[in-house]
Amino acid sequence: MTQIEYTVRQELAAPSFANEIDADALYDKCMALAKNMWWSWQPEVTNLFRDIDPIRWRQLDHNPIALLREFTPERLAIRAGEMVLHSRVNYAYRRLHEYLESQSTWAQTNAGVLGAKPVAYFSAEFGLHESLPVYSGGLGVLSGDHVKSASGLGVPLVGIGLYYSHGYFKQHLSEDGYQREEYFETKVEDLPLQPATMPDGTPLTVAIETRNGRLLAKVWKVNVGRVSLFLLDCNVDGNRPEDRELTSRLYGGDERTRIRQELVIGVGGVKALRALGIKPGVYHLNEGHSAFAPLEVIRERMEDDGLSFDEAAREVADMTVFTTHTPVPAGHDRFDGALIEEHLGPLRDSLHMSHDALMAMGRVHPDNHSEPFCMTVIGLKLSRCANAVSQLHGHISRRMWNTLYPHREERNIPIGHITNGVHVESWLAWQMQQLYDRHFPANWKSQMGEADVWQNIHAVDPGELWETHNALKNLLLSFVRRRVSRQCRRRGESDDVVEAARNVLSPNVLTIGFGRRFATYKRANLLFKDLDRISRILDSEERPVQVIFAGKAHPKDEPGKRFIQEIANLRHDSRFGGRVVFIEDYDINVCRHFIQGVDVWLNNPRRPLEASGTSGQKVVYNGGLNCSILDGWWAEAFNGSNGFAIGKGTSHSEDRITDARDSEYLYKTIEEEVVPIFYNRDADGLPRQWIKMMMSSISTLAWRFSSHRMVMDYTRQAYVPAAGGLSCEMKKF
Ligand SMILES: *Cc1c(COP(=O)(O)O)cnc(C)c1O
Repeated sequence: MTQIEYTVRQELAAPSFANEIDADALYDKCMALAKNMWWSWQPEVTNLFRDIDPIRWRQLDHNPIALLREFTPERLAIRAGEMVLHSRVNYAYRRLHEYLESQSTWAQTNAGVLGAKPVAYFSAEFGLHESLPVYSGGLGVLSGDHVKSASGLGVPLVGIGLYYSHGYFKQHLSEDGYQREEYFETKVEDLPLQPATMPDGTPLTVAIETRNGRLLAKVWKVNVGRVSLFLLDCNVDGNRPEDRELTSRLYGGDERTRIRQELVIGVGGVKALRALGIKPGVYHLNEGHSAFAPLEVIRERMEDDGLSFDEAAREVADMTVFTTHTPVPAGHDRFDGALIEEHLGPLRDSLHMSHDALMAMGRVHPDNHSEPFCMTVIGLKLSRCANAVSQLHGHISRRMWNTLYPHREERNIPIGHITNGVHVESWLAWQMQQLYDRHFPANWKSQMGEADVWQNIHAVDPGELWETHNALKNLLLSFVRRRVSRQCRRRGESDDVVEAARNVLSPNVLTIGFGRRFATYKRANLLFKDLDRISRILDSEERPVQVIFAGKAHPKDEPGKRFIQEIANLRHDSRFGGRVVFIEDYDINVCRHFIQGVDVWLNNPRRPLEASGTSGQKVVYNGGLNCSILDGWWAEAFNGSNGFAIGKGTSHSEDRITDARDSEYLYKTIEEEVVPIFYNRDADGLPRQWIKMMMSSISTLAWRFSSHRMVMDYTRQAYVPAAGGLSCEMKKF
């Protein structure tokens, strides 16, 4: 059904409503839809908001609250009349309420024990949608997808994070390709935040004692489908001016800012739950940032139940799940004794613990007084159940932390793995969803985790799949052209250059995408190790290739910024004839366009440093093919014919040698596999073998790499055992 047919059918189905338009009721329903992030994974609701004012929708970062606030109820009603939106609003509103009230969920039958004891899921960032900028990258998007799937499956869970009023930075490149960072304050009124209130109705503020004063945080609540997400915010009266700024930026500031933010999320988060009357049965620490939380829970248990520290610590560990994400040693937060004492001192007093004993909990070698306090170490020590985020990352993590468990063989180290996944409904293009709707069983969405469902892709007409993909590729190219010409205009380039930008790239050319943080281990510039060779590949007369890049470097990562500069400046290099473009300000919106429209998604990290990676999983559902180093999720996903592997899954102890080898492998893979298969067409102009690979990618991978599967794994292997007082059975190999 097209959008228009759909609208007409809905209008015909509800003719009576058109007579008595209640402008206020219409406005309230639209606002209610906008204030539950559920809308963000409902294409019909997203389209509905867009249709209210397509231009403002784009200008406002797809923010429905900001959009609605520009309308009075009367103007909205007029607009709704013009666009015949009334019944779509009513229908969406009814669906939201059916969803919120539905009792028959997966968790109802599989996780009953959690009913009265929800999971408290802590994460330093949550990436739900581009209009709620409290995330920076992969970790945040993973947390967002986790929460959305918990909602979809009905797993009782609440999220705990921080509200960053200035979010992460917006990226612009200067004339010479160097990254500039800008921070914008988001207006709370434009966001789906409401003050979290205590059972008696008063807005909640929590207080955390430190050695040099008290830190206050107010608490916001965001509705994400059936899940509540609580975000702590230090911008409150009563805090010192510098503390009011504490949570304004994500990953900004120095070590002291960082430990104070982590104190707020961990200790403040537990206090907030208690004040809200929520009694979690499980604490899930997503990465080490929140690993102070168990200390506060231990304190509660000692005070409430009169337990000793050791007794309380054992009980709390039984209900704590810890997920580590970083195989890079520098990626684990470490703090010196003075910072720990300043911030944890008062809590340590309540725990009747010496400074040395507390420090020892954050050390691999408890007696090594020169060792700083590591958040991952305390996270591992205070959780019974710990996991890495892919099979390979599990191996790496057990090796990395084996000194913590001196008496165990490596394979008995209690760190398992649950491979990351993505929230399909958030990342799946509307056009692909319609294709699946046409060919898959009617209830395919509720059976996304079944391999059988996805076998239906083989029955789809290859031409239809190819056409759908190409429609999405064309949408990506218009997005890229719009963005590139805007970038040129902002840099004050001549009209000729801006005009050329409007025609950059070609829909018939093999299109490779690369979008992710510009951390140096991800080697964004690997493709350009040999400029002559890659220019010959891209500029081939008969079988050309074009590449689109996007990604932010951390503000303090100079080498990462130089990678960006190197790639952005290729636009001045005539050898590349406009076949390499860099799109500024990578975010969820840019990512969504990329992963829905590329032919090939390139990922070439230095193995084994990519713990999982999730962007390539988003590509799978939309019909793109992965071309990746055998690292993270791809090491367990690639089967020889469902995409492309770069190299053989080996690396050398010297980075220089690994990089040289991998770039050679990369060129060979593109030249000998990707390009020939893409351009080998039959009499109808179809790349038969390529389409077969698209189908194979979908049928072998789609059922395995969704966040529904991931949350089901967490529920069965970690949450249910932890809440039920059983030992955790995390799969290891
Ligand atoms: C999915 C996503 C990521 C994660 O990508 P990786 O492949 O894990 O690097 C990062 N940023 C955004 C905006 C995303 O949507």
